[in-house]
Amino acid sequence: MNDPRDSEAAHDRPSHFIRDIIAADQQAGKNGGAVVTRFPPEPNGYLHIGHAKAICLDFGMAREFGGRCHLRMDDTNPAKESMEYVESIKTDVRWLGWDWGDHFFFSAHYFERMYAVACDLIKRGKAYVCELTQEQWKDYRGVPTRPGKESPFRNRSVEENLDLFARMRAGEFPDGSLCLRAKIDMAAPNIHLRDPVLYRIMREHHYLTGNEWCIYPMYDYAHPLEDAFEGITHSLCTLEFEVHRPLYDWVVDQLENFPARPRQIEFARLNLSYTVMSKRKLLELVQKKLVSGWDDPRMPTISGLRRRGVPPEAIRAFCEEIGITKYESLTDVALLEHCIRNALNKTALRRMAVLDPLLVTIENAEALPADIEAVNNPEDPAAGSRRIPFGSQLYIERDDFAETPPPKYFRLSPGKSVRIRYAGFLTCTGVQKDDAGAVTGIICRWDPPTAELKVKGTIHWVPAHGAQMLEARLYDRLFTIEQPDSQEGREFTEFLNPDSLKTVTAHAEPALAEAKPGEAFQFERIAYFVADSLDSKPGRPVFNRTVTLKDAWAKASKK
Ligand code: ATP
Ligand code: MG
Repeated sequence: MNDPRDSEAAHDRPSHFIRDIIAADQQAGKNGGAVVTRFPPEPNGYLHIGHAKAICLDFGMAREFGGRCHLRMDDTNPAKESMEYVESIKTDVRWLGWDWGDHFFFSAHYFERMYAVACDLIKRGKAYVCELTQEQWKDYRGVPTRPGKESPFRNRSVEENLDLFARMRAGEFPDGSLCLRAKIDMAAPNIHLRDPVLYRIMREHHYLTGNEWCIYPMYDYAHPLEDAFEGITHSLCTLEFEVHRPLYDWVVDQLENFPARPRQIEFARLNLSYTVMSKRKLLELVQKKLVSGWDDPRMPTISGLRRRGVPPEAIRAFCEEIGITKYESLTDVALLEHCIRNALNKTALRRMAVLDPLLVTIENAEALPADIEAVNNPEDPAAGSRRIPFGSQLYIERDDFAETPPPKYFRLSPGKSVRIRYAGFLTCTGVQKDDAGAVTGIICRWDPPTAELKVKGTIHWVPAHGAQMLEARLYDRLFTIEQPDSQEGREFTEFLNPDSLKTVTAHAEPALAEAKPGEAFQFERIAYFVADSLDSKPGRPVFNRTVTLKDAWAKASKK
């Protein structure tokens, strides 16, 4: 199996600028040749497919260059963080196939060290306690084209700053009243260097440190410190952090005696059509119950994709396929679906199920075999075969029969024959109707596979006697348009697809009664399905449609 985690496979792939930079750094002996990356999610929601791109890059580069990748909870902003999210993140990263070994960290565990670094900055005259209000601070900061003004508190003595900062920590001041700022340059063209805030006062319970702290470090201060503390060499992040890089470097430059000098490199985030990716919006879908939860199979979350039946290797292959660039773009969800089909084609067992049944009665019942042998996966001989009971009544798909067939209709119609999967041929000899004239069933003659009938179509079927009923949840895209969250003046929720879930009762071959939760199948001619990990029970199967069989991507790329 082509596993994108394998470094050997790297040789066949086009390189990208991050791989090139790391290779060059390693060759030049930077950081003693070590490559240490990190994936730093904020535990304020479940991971999504965009995070998978970052995960595959962070862990993939470490693996490829013989280094390691840390998993770090970026939990410096306690308001929306929780242990539930921490656990879900660990589960998802592991499920994606990555391993952080012993290198699991919480930013919150560095609070004391970060505080010490801040005190040190104060002592060296590089940070001060500021009393400007939020509005004043904004006004003093200026705009990129015009220099800012220095805060009147900028030149306090070291002693006074140390005292005030200690009292900030001790809880003597109300939220937002004071802050600690770096003393850098109020005239810097890069606005992030205009004495950025390092600490704010915020009485907020933290899921790890409880009420121990009422001051919390800002991301721009915390992140480079965490990277430095952990000996990160390459800190890979998305493009919006590019303008923050000078500040990242400034913070790193203030430190001495750290194992490595981390280097921040930015890449374009993944945007995917027909969905939204911001955690805030995903949370809104969950909270407003517009989906059943973070793991709703329509969600772009890792847990949603997993429940939908997407295998981890499909997500890794997708991340490899989209590559790493510096420019923003919108990736067609059809590419993801293509990767899912590719992966499932190799592994999913084939089964037959009929979603919209039409009863077939076979007139020459005396000739029928008791059961039929069917291969489990033509792509994988090791998957073996099974026997499907056969009988004088079968179900076929209602639209595989047409009383008056349109041109080029190769399925069943009166007087015509069709091949039925694994089991010979049917020739339609009669049509049964109700009083209103609707077709209720058809009569057919059966011929064995050895019969020499010339037919163009093959249809699937299930035995009517002993058919297993199952609930089939037919999932579709969650939104009706490509970019639901960039429509001016409109809420993204206005574009939810009302048909993103249809539930039908399907008739299936008996073998599907035994499907294990999470097991994937191809229902022949219909779609890939997975037994739902929560609701499917032995004897009462529930299946989620993962993806249909029609590959829009492969078709488009062949043109
Ligand atoms: P959101 O804006 O949805 O809250 P975030 O970027 O704040 O997302 P984090 O938990 O901070 O979420 O993300 C962890 C890491 O994943 C970061 O390094 C971030 O750059 C990366 N990441 C987040 N979204 C994407 C995406 N769509 N494509 C690639 N990487 C992403
Ligand atoms: Mg973030």
